[in-house]
Amino acid sequence: MPYDDKYWQKEEILPRKELEEIQLKRFRWVVRHAYDNVPFYRRRFREAGVHPDDVRRLEDLAKLPFTTKEDLRENYPFGLFAVPKEKLVRVHTSSGTSGKPKVVGYTARDLENWVNLCARCLYMVGLREKDVFQNMVSYTMFTGGLGMHYGAERIGAMVVPSGTGNTKRQIEYMLDFGTTAIHCTPSYALHIKEVAEGMEIDPKEIGLRIGCFGAEPWSESTRKKLEDAFGLKAFDSYGLSEMNGPGVAFECEEQNGLHVWIDHYIVEIVDPETGEPLSDGEKGELVLTPLTKEALPLIRYRTGDITFVMDDECSCGRTHPKIHRILGRADDMIIVRGINVFPSQIEHVLMSIPEVGDNYQVVITRKGALDEITVRVEVKDEFFTGELSDIERLRKKIQDRLREELGLRTNVELVEKGTLERFEGKARRVVDMRKEL
Ligand code: ADP
Ligand code: ZN
Repeated sequence: MPYDDKYWQKEEILPRKELEEIQLKRFRWVVRHAYDNVPFYRRRFREAGVHPDDVRRLEDLAKLPFTTKEDLRENYPFGLFAVPKEKLVRVHTSSGTSGKPKVVGYTARDLENWVNLCARCLYMVGLREKDVFQNMVSYTMFTGGLGMHYGAERIGAMVVPSGTGNTKRQIEYMLDFGTTAIHCTPSYALHIKEVAEGMEIDPKEIGLRIGCFGAEPWSESTRKKLEDAFGLKAFDSYGLSEMNGPGVAFECEEQNGLHVWIDHYIVEIVDPETGEPLSDGEKGELVLTPLTKEALPLIRYRTGDITFVMDDECSCGRTHPKIHRILGRADDMIIVRGINVFPSQIEHVLMSIPEVGDNYQVVITRKGALDEITVRVEVKDEFFTGELSDIERLRKKIQDRLREELGLRTNVELVEKGTLERFEGKARRVVDMRKEL
């Protein structure tokens, strides 16, 4: 049952002071829980010279050691779990975007918390009982499928668990079932748009109201493109398997920053190189400490994702701080000739140019001592006139816009629509040939 017609749970609007009291109580619990039940943490705490009894205030967090993705991998599969296996009711894994997947587990209570966090997010963007929610992400080990599925079901929406693939069929379901809300990666949403157009269906005719897009970085220009094409409102959904999955942070109706549910996760931003804590507004690596996870408590988990905290009051009335949309993963940042570039910056430029289609690829090579970026761009059919001078003019325009935004010269290669690979889940847009040398 929702708290009222605007908020799923009353915790969303508790005064910050009360939220901090909840945080402190849960923080002390989780530190004790990890220490008592995970030998890894007992060892780590001893090495760092700290003990759960030293944790009295929220500020004491900074005394505790970090947990990294490596720690999870080294303890594969269940080494960091804090409950016996019989208490687990489910496992998932991460997608394995950057290395061997990590295994995460849930107790019955963990699942209950997670369902409500997902429901909070979906209710926040306006999903209600009357809606039809088509969930177009993988339903297997990936957390996005079952996570959002149960969140939407809890609200009472009608869920269409269509998973990934068979895009034409997906579009038919939308039309036949009266789908009003969708969840998928932004790159898959672009693909659906393209397939619908190929079927001579105007995506607007589908009647979608809400788009929840996440699991990979995307840009404001992609938001605009999707909103214009489908006539929906597009919201950014952030989560990671290690923090249950989706439902960690989500945009509200303001579409300006993602509220992080701080009664369940403590947020820190640190310098990715030194690990030193940074202040609000400073860009760095997001570090999260889940406060309620029984099966897999993680202390100061280094997400590898780059963002900053925007702790202003929000007009939606929620008292939880916001983070800026994720700029990218620290290990996805391309460093070319000393300049740092996130693929999402390239996407932002490309998706704002009307002649550019829905797909692109970034190829990085090394010529002698010099790194080169080549951006391969699909051009919309109507602009692919075959006139060499037109093509060259467009190529130059894209190159100039990229140079303005990135401060970097790139090679731009125009290709016909349909040339580049399409993605149903997380897109792999960057091909770094330097790593293959
Ligand atoms: P993997 O790291 O193997 O992809 P997950 O499937 O758990 O594992 O995905 C979580 C990661 O996906 C996050 O750490 C982040 O890098 C990325 N991600 C998730 N949601 C978003 C989003 N809304 N914007 C940008 N990146 C996101
Ligand atoms: Zn808000």
